[in-house]
Amino acid sequence: MFPQLKYTKEQIEAYFAQVTPEMVQTTLGRGKLSFFDLLNLISPAAYPFMDAMRVRAQKARRRYYGKTVSVYAPLYIGNTCVNSCRYCDFRIQHTGTVRRNLSLDEIRREAEAIRANGIDSLLVVAGEDPRVNTVEHLAEVGRLLKTMFSYLALEVAPQTEDAYRALFAAGYEGLTCFQETYDQERYKFFHPAGPKSNYENRLWTQLRAGRAGFRTLGIAFLLGLVPWRTEAASLAAHAWYLMKECYQSKIQFAFPRFCPTEGGFQPEFPVDDRDLDLMMLAFRIAFPECCMTVSTREAPAFRDYIVQVAADNMSAGSRVTPGGYAVLADKDVAQFTLTDGRAPDDVYAAIRANGQEVVFKNWDNRI
Ligand code: SF4
Repeated sequence: MFPQLKYTKEQIEAYFAQVTPEMVQTTLGRGKLSFFDLLNLISPAAYPFMDAMRVRAQKARRRYYGKTVSVYAPLYIGNTCVNSCRYCDFRIQHTGTVRRNLSLDEIRREAEAIRANGIDSLLVVAGEDPRVNTVEHLAEVGRLLKTMFSYLALEVAPQTEDAYRALFAAGYEGLTCFQETYDQERYKFFHPAGPKSNYENRLWTQLRAGRAGFRTLGIAFLLGLVPWRTEAASLAAHAWYLMKECYQSKIQFAFPRFCPTEGGFQPEFPVDDRDLDLMMLAFRIAFPECCMTVSTREAPAFRDYIVQVAADNMSAGSRVTPGGYAVLADKDVAQFTLTDGRAPDDVYAAIRANGQEVVFKNWDNRI
């Protein structure tokens, strides 16, 4: 569990088991939700209330984000990695994946291809390889990309607070770091070696980035590794902790479901559509002001639905291959399978068909 939480996994599980329909109803009648209100909304007793939750979530979403959907794209700059995550085909032991780190010129070509789709917010992603992705290199990449995009976010290995200051100065303002699981024992099992085996170092990544000035702090667990309800309780506690400690930053939730990989890892606790829907509605109600993103891992129908009621942000036309947009557009060396393979224009058209507006730029500190 998230270490600052005063409850054990067993206590949280016992709580879920005794939530009644009346408790869910009482929660839905409240304005500001507490930790236990959130637990009520993600408990099995909440299933019959999903229509009411959808109405309330949509209202909260509209209040903060109107009828808009922000779009972004990831740019994978490299897939070499020194870690051993059992569920990922980029792990050091997996030899079946072609490894590649893009040169600055290749990164520029990829960025131009993304820019041609209208995208103005970019997530820079790399495997954890301190030999290649040094702070200096990431800063150089940031300075290059900042001339082309209004907003840059990073999803790379956890860094020190000083490194985050340097990266912020180079143009990055958002950070995403999935904890994968908040369960310390299972974390040890899934991450047996490499720098990522250090649970605490990963856990406080957003705190360090927030203190270094990052505006958006992305948090998530990987859905499928352990039972999702206790993980969601930890995620909520993590969010409330960061909102207090880094009050100048925005929290961004993601709910990445495990997708099949070439390496064949099978999640023990897959999360179905109904549970994902329930969780995202509950988080939108409990955290109305926070950002929420839905990735290309999800099917088009689910993405088009959830951005109307809960999520405010989605990727479009993603390629999860280093070089996948322009340099190696014909070969896929992906970290996971994409479920939404629509072209960006088709994603934009679907958003507009639902009466929403596509937002390419919602922040630019260069002005
Ligand atoms: S999940 Fe990330 S850190 Fe782990 S092996 Fe894959 S790329 Fe490396």
